[in-house]
Amino acid sequence: MLEKARSLLQKYYGYADFRPGQGQIITSLLEGRDTLAVMPTGAGKSLCFQLPALLLPGITVVISPLISLMKDQVDALHSVGIPAAFINSSLTMAEVRERLNAARRNQYKLLYIAPERLASEPFQAAFKEMQVSLVAIDEAHCVSQWGHDFRPSYRAVGPFIAALPDRPVIGAFTATATENVKQDIIGLMELANPAVYVTGFDRPNLSFAVIRGENKQNFIRQYVSANRNRSGIIYAATRNEVDNLYAALRKNGYSAGKYHAGLPDEERRQNQEAFIQDDCEIMVATNAFGMGIDKSNVRYVIHYNMPKNMEAYYQEAGRAGRDGEPSECILLFGAQDTMLQKFLIEQTVTDPERKMSEFGKLQAMVDYCHTPQCLRRYILAYFGETAAADECGNCSNCKEDAELADITLEAQKVFSCVLRLKERYGATLIADVLKGAKNKRVLQGGFNTLSVYGIMQEYPLQEIKDLINRLIATEYLCLTESEYPVVKLTPNGVAVLKNQAQVWQKVPRRPQRTADTNS
Ligand code: ADP
Ligand code: ZN
Repeated sequence: MLEKARSLLQKYYGYADFRPGQGQIITSLLEGRDTLAVMPTGAGKSLCFQLPALLLPGITVVISPLISLMKDQVDALHSVGIPAAFINSSLTMAEVRERLNAARRNQYKLLYIAPERLASEPFQAAFKEMQVSLVAIDEAHCVSQWGHDFRPSYRAVGPFIAALPDRPVIGAFTATATENVKQDIIGLMELANPAVYVTGFDRPNLSFAVIRGENKQNFIRQYVSANRNRSGIIYAATRNEVDNLYAALRKNGYSAGKYHAGLPDEERRQNQEAFIQDDCEIMVATNAFGMGIDKSNVRYVIHYNMPKNMEAYYQEAGRAGRDGEPSECILLFGAQDTMLQKFLIEQTVTDPERKMSEFGKLQAMVDYCHTPQCLRRYILAYFGETAAADECGNCSNCKEDAELADITLEAQKVFSCVLRLKERYGATLIADVLKGAKNKRVLQGGFNTLSVYGIMQEYPLQEIKDLINRLIATEYLCLTESEYPVVKLTPNGVAVLKNQAQVWQKVPRRPQRTADTNS
């Protein structure tokens, strides 16, 4: 069956072979198994239901939320000679009737439908006379209130399928991989023992880097000077920061543009256009920039601040290298970034359950900034995909000039301090106590009388903080999910304290940097 699909792929679409994952998803649907496919935008979802539609008897119904997208897809199918049609609110009643009649006469292989239609009686009646083999649900996360784009009309999909005379195979497609959303799709769409595939998230031409403890302005200055005449985006967290970075770049003679919600519409439009047309080289922007922009030759995306979660980060970083050429995604981490994102969650999210979930996602983002493992592997694991190799060789952790060092003793000092503080305090206080800081909070709490007070005084405070963060990212320590997370020991950490395990970690050999005069 898959061989047949492959030859149709060549015949109708002119592609030599499937992309990763497509073959498995197509096979799964052709074998009659309900299938949930999680694929990012642009990974090639459409083929995964269009090819089975060609091979299965009868008709395939495609539920799709966007009118413009439907028309584009149907036009594309027509252009390669595949009979298809759409039904949505852009049609008159007469046109709808006509298309339903044509569908009854088996004149289409694919019928695209807006979900708003599904609940209507005459509509359901028409489907009783069709042989529906496959129902493909595009943007299936729209059924879930946990998703970012909840559409109540998607709740009609489950009952619609249940009312069909013969149960078709269901294929649900989405780019949103969180567990809540997946469970909602499976439950509300009534998928029966579905196969779940997460695929297409890897972007091999992108290299990833996290840079910590560096002067960010200096970094940007050096980076853009070494990357003249290359198109890049610098994302910053606030309008103010965008304005400052932009001014600094302009002052140094760079062709930069800026974009944030505080600028007049017209100025934003012009700046965006100049960037797309390569009239301006560097775009400095808040996360307001980038939606729906398809510029293929972006060579780097630098995050001046850490974003709020991995989804946001990967979407923004993913704007680099659309043309498949090598491109860089660099994140400049500073501890204040975490504070700012916490503040934003606190300010914007009211529902307590959702707030927890946002804090949890933020922590995964912070962990990305501290993990010693391959960054690509971390990203793929976050989205539910397994990396092909332990090390990609194309991220800052894989490439880092580092040596594996036994840091058991340091780790034990941290863990003892966590225990002495009865697992009731956050990372900042733990670092202060280990350092032997004499600030008000330490002295007033009487923490200077603890046996662990100052046992790491010879280390720079930042290094102690980094160490704690690495021990969190590698799951020797964990954080409670809240705005002010408390550090606790995991069973791994306990084992280390009992001398039952050692901690080996990559310790960077610090690169020699040229001295900077102006910071
Ligand atoms: P999605 O719906 O996942 O956003 P599409 O189905 O529109 O993505 O596919 C994105 C692009 O990739 C389209 O231009 C499509 O023709 C192309 N594409 C899909 N599958 C393949 C393949 N196996 N080989 C080459 N190009 C492909
Ligand atoms: Zn790597």
